[in-house]
Amino acid sequence: MKAAVFKGQGLVTLDDRPLPVPGPDELVMRVHAASICGTDLKIIRGGHFRVGPDETRVLGHELAGEIVEVGAQVPLWRAGQRVAVVPNIGCGHCDMCRKGLNNMCPDYDAFGINIDGGFQQYMLVTRAALAGGNLVEIPQGMTFEEASLVEPLSCCFNAWKDLHVTPEDRVLVLGTGPIAGLFLQLARAYGARQVIVVGRRASRLAEIAAFGATDTVDSGLADVVAEVMRLTQGCGVDVALTCAPAPELQQQAMACLARFGRLNFFSGLTRGSTVGIDTNKVHYWSLKLLGSTGSSLDDYARALRLVETGKIRVTGVVSHRFGMADAVAAFDHALSGQGMKTVIFPQVETMP
Ligand SMILES: [Zn+2]
Ligand SMILES: [Zn+2]
Repeated sequence: MKAAVFKGQGLVTLDDRPLPVPGPDELVMRVHAASICGTDLKIIRGGHFRVGPDETRVLGHELAGEIVEVGAQVPLWRAGQRVAVVPNIGCGHCDMCRKGLNNMCPDYDAFGINIDGGFQQYMLVTRAALAGGNLVEIPQGMTFEEASLVEPLSCCFNAWKDLHVTPEDRVLVLGTGPIAGLFLQLARAYGARQVIVVGRRASRLAEIAAFGATDTVDSGLADVVAEVMRLTQGCGVDVALTCAPAPELQQQAMACLARFGRLNFFSGLTRGSTVGIDTNKVHYWSLKLLGSTGSSLDDYARALRLVETGKIRVTGVVSHRFGMADAVAAFDHALSGQGMKTVIFPQVETMP
């Protein structure tokens, strides 16, 4: 089979590998869709704390496919079932895992991080993943591409649920990548009265606004804080989400918050970067500064429903699709920063 293999900083090659053989308590799935995440790009650039710059790994944690072979001691699953995975597998024993927060487990394993993931034609699903409930059957009628994109939506949903957005709220989304596109759709689905998106490329802003923005701010042309204040009649926003790894976005988001404002620093910064925070504003204005990472099994299940019911159209954020023969080109494309979401279809030789 073909596998796109990360082999250290900046290097991904398309290799022939033997088909994985499941142990008695494992199974093998045929991967039909695997989308490229900013985390994959971070690993390729050599900047992820869980994947060393000299490791060899099949990346990809946003994936869906079909079960093809099931170990003799695996109950409940059978060949032919259409499935997706929740990538972070908790240890099952720590305080976080006991609360159902597999994404917060300090000893997690994850597909595409420290075990081989989705950018290959067949993937082994480990005993721990099956025991942890990390394999999920996808609904009839949901495409593999949609199912692969439930994962990034579930990470957005994890952030979203703690912001308690209501129709009274003004929401600010800083960034114009696929994550921003998903947050704009969430804001629309939850009926936020005003949704402002900030970006630095006019063409991308116009494209992304269609997902649910009521206003756009081009940060190359306008002072972001002044413009957001103007658009909100001087009130500021109730909710803000930073969706790009830029310190200045975090400062702008803080400065745009209204009294009782809630903020999620969704996108991490390069290690070592820090941002000054006006803690008096946090104190006197009763702000809530939040963070989130990954998604729990519960977040994933809820995101799956949002996609199944059509409330969120995840495929809207996909801009480019590649077959397996062009997998390396797909990474180059994603690394170039063009387009929004890139999806690889491992069973397709090359896209028409
Ligand atoms: Zn991801
Ligand atoms: Zn744990």
